[in-house]
Amino acid sequence: MPRVLLLHTGGTLGMAGGRPSALRPAAFFKTLRKRAPELFQLADIELELFCNVDSSEMQPELWSRMAAHLHQRLSHFDGAVVTHGTDTLAHTASALSFMLRNPPCPVVLTGSQRPLGEIRSDARLNLIDAVLSALQGPREVTICFDSHLYRGNRTRKVKVAEYDAFESPNFPVLGTLGVDATFEPGLKARGPFRLFERLDSRVFLLKVYPGLDPALPLQLLPHVKGFVVEAYGAGNFPIDPELGRSLRPLFTQARERGVPVLVVSQAHRNGVDLSLYESGAAALAEGAVGAADMTPSAALVKLMQGLAYHPNSPEALTRFLQTPVAGELTVGRLTVPPPSPARRRNARSARAK
Ligand code: ASP
Repeated sequence: MPRVLLLHTGGTLGMAGGRPSALRPAAFFKTLRKRAPELFQLADIELELFCNVDSSEMQPELWSRMAAHLHQRLSHFDGAVVTHGTDTLAHTASALSFMLRNPPCPVVLTGSQRPLGEIRSDARLNLIDAVLSALQGPREVTICFDSHLYRGNRTRKVKVAEYDAFESPNFPVLGTLGVDATFEPGLKARGPFRLFERLDSRVFLLKVYPGLDPALPLQLLPHVKGFVVEAYGAGNFPIDPELGRSLRPLFTQARERGVPVLVVSQAHRNGVDLSLYESGAAALAEGAVGAADMTPSAALVKLMQGLAYHPNSPEALTRFLQTPVAGELTVGRLTVPPPSPARRRNARSARAK
């Protein structure tokens, strides 16, 4: 029998209770043996409890410990399944994908919208599909959910109360688990299996919104090592000084203080192109880095890792942020169509008025 490691970390999948009381982490392995005994016909499954928390409690220190643990254990198995809450599943999958480079077997994260102990739970099928993906899927860190296998660092949680909770807006699925299960080859190993478990979590994720007082993020600058700015569309934010809320000083002062700024998009599809509009161009001129089509979760974790491994070299950090390490971004494709010449002319004449 093939061997699969099942590492439980918590989440709704293993919770009990529910209305009128709150859902709480519960004894998962007992429920697993009772509700999904057929799982043990697919593989010789070794159960390990890593932690048992709502995934809102997941923190960078836990990612590092989890990666180090998996790094030690993976070579003894044909595949691994990590059970996890859905709320921060995309963050943890991103972290593991950056920390476990060239894994020797598939590492599949899964969770569910309803606890395994409930009759209409999606947990049983997600678990079965995750084990199958751990045996037959690509050797990389993935998320298996609602009959699909996604590249972990490309996913977003998009739904709270429906079973198809995840999407991978900028990258095709790596597997479809319908009547038949089919998988894509996934990432090619580029070197030995290595662990990069260090992170510097002193970063801030700033979402741009109409009304944002630029003085607020400026006050944070002395306290952070890096900023992720979740900007509008292609990487836009206000820069008109006359309208009073320009964020340009944030980019200028960040550069002066040596605080790197990575710009991601609030839009789910396509990505950041800082050369397209004036504000993006201003950010570029101040040394900001566009995150292309990375998700905000992946960008945040990647910046944490970049800061830990390239603390003294802005050039090396920029290169690291712009180069895919686990298929997390698309390189060399203009992800946003350029405006037509007519739109450029209109914008120029509007500014002249
Ligand atoms: N709050 C839960 C968690 O992330 C949600 C879930 O698992 O679906 O742990």
